[in-house]
Amino acid sequence: MQEELRMVTEPVVVQAIINGERVDTEKRYTRENPANPEEIVGYGPVNTREDAVRAIDAAAAAFPAWAQTPLRERIAHMRRAIARFREAIPELVPLLSREHGKPVYDAQGEMFVSLAWMDYACDIAEEALAEKVEQHENGKTIITRDPMGVVAAITPWNYPLALSTIKIAPALIAGNTMVLKPSPFAPLAVSKAVEWMAGEFPAGVLNMVHGDADVGVELTTNPKVAKIAFTGGTKTATHIMKSASDTIKNMTLELGGNDAALVLSDFDVNDERAMRRLVISNFLTTGQICMIAKRVYVHRSIYDAFVEKYIEAANKWIRVGDAFHPDVTIGPVNNLPQVRHVERLIEDARSRGAKVIPLGRILDENVFAKGYFMQPTVVLGAGYDDPIVVEEQFGPTVPVLPYDDEEQGIQLVNNSIYGLTSSVWGEEEHALRVARRIEAGTTMINTAAVQGLDIRYPFGGFKQSGIGREYGVEGLLGYTELHVINVPKVGELPNIPE
Ligand code: NAD
Repeated sequence: MQEELRMVTEPVVVQAIINGERVDTEKRYTRENPANPEEIVGYGPVNTREDAVRAIDAAAAAFPAWAQTPLRERIAHMRRAIARFREAIPELVPLLSREHGKPVYDAQGEMFVSLAWMDYACDIAEEALAEKVEQHENGKTIITRDPMGVVAAITPWNYPLALSTIKIAPALIAGNTMVLKPSPFAPLAVSKAVEWMAGEFPAGVLNMVHGDADVGVELTTNPKVAKIAFTGGTKTATHIMKSASDTIKNMTLELGGNDAALVLSDFDVNDERAMRRLVISNFLTTGQICMIAKRVYVHRSIYDAFVEKYIEAANKWIRVGDAFHPDVTIGPVNNLPQVRHVERLIEDARSRGAKVIPLGRILDENVFAKGYFMQPTVVLGAGYDDPIVVEEQFGPTVPVLPYDDEEQGIQLVNNSIYGLTSSVWGEEEHALRVARRIEAGTTMINTAAVQGLDIRYPFGGFKQSGIGREYGVEGLLGYTELHVINVPKVGELPNIPE
């Protein structure tokens, strides 16, 4: 993924896509560069509920023919759409970095994950969606995987391309049509990608509208929508579940996390690479990842040595600056409300007596002062129930807390309304034993967050971190209904009177 970048500095204008047409609006919203909020990176359309209705109608009209299109042809359309996405990467990477704030290497990583998943979904589709025929003593049963209809996909700002393509590929391959609504906090690169991809499908198969809760409400209440694929905050999901309940929609919900890293007594604090992986798993994408390690529990026997080495490793790896600075590892926070949320949690921890230690290096003080930058911090001495520990911070700060025995450590990890991912650090067999007791959709050993992600396996949360799974075969089957066709030999109940 080392293509030349094609930087466009004029503001980019993106539109809605409804029934194969790009649709503009008179009013537009702006998206600024979080590293320099005076710089407008682009404009998006201000769509209304009526626009959402038109997009849903187009998707509903396109559904019957698309569902009847042979699977191989649908896969071929998707492969062409992926090729368009791939060609666009030199333009998408800098655009994503500018609208989001994430460093270029991080934006490239997002492209890589998006492509890997879409390719994989194409590769596995024929086997995963094949109908099964069973001959048995009572005749024959055929089980098919049918598409559901119109999928409303609603995505967040932190990984806008990865979290949209994670839905587009399986939903469309399985024969559904879609209306996607990206987040207004990072709408530009994903809209460009969807615009190019949509051209490779019949009109109406892949639509997109912009907006926030206003448009979202239409997508989640409209009776023509069969399934909601949502990634975002747990609180937003409670609104969505209520909206969707009147028409009993199918849902996949990928929600918040407060993922824990549990460091066992036999973790080697002098293993510099492991320590670096842990730091990265706390601060990659400025901590704005659902699956980032957001609280670290360390066995008391190694706590002091751990903290010393952790701070050393963090100071080495963390270099805060503009996405295009050659030495940058961490960019700004994506938006001001998020900065305020993280600041509030840090201030609260400080007011309760915790020590907040700044980490890393600021590459350019002038750049830093202008943008939505925050100096990354580690919080020591927080209480187990303090908001910085129990709430999802989704930003560049992490509490590190000691625990006394393993039982307590496991309890602390599991004592959360969330259960997205987790990690255990220490001797492998020991860590594996502990991992089996953790309540989370994924547990990683001696690594964490996207470093340990494998798109071939299902991803999703326990408890209030979500419902259903994305990635893996399950991530494709989640867009299908099981349809059982019985051809019994007799077909009558024996005890029914003539
Ligand atoms: P958010 O919940 O504020 O917004 C997500 C999307 O929902 C946006 O497109 C937004 O416009 C839309 N929306 C808001 N209100 C709505 C409503 N009432 N009806 C319909 N749609 C509505 O989340 P965010 O701030 O964009 O993203 C951060 C959150 O996402 C964090 O909690 C993070 O953990 C979570 N997340 C989860 C995963 C995962 O895979 N589990 C991945 C990434 C992010």
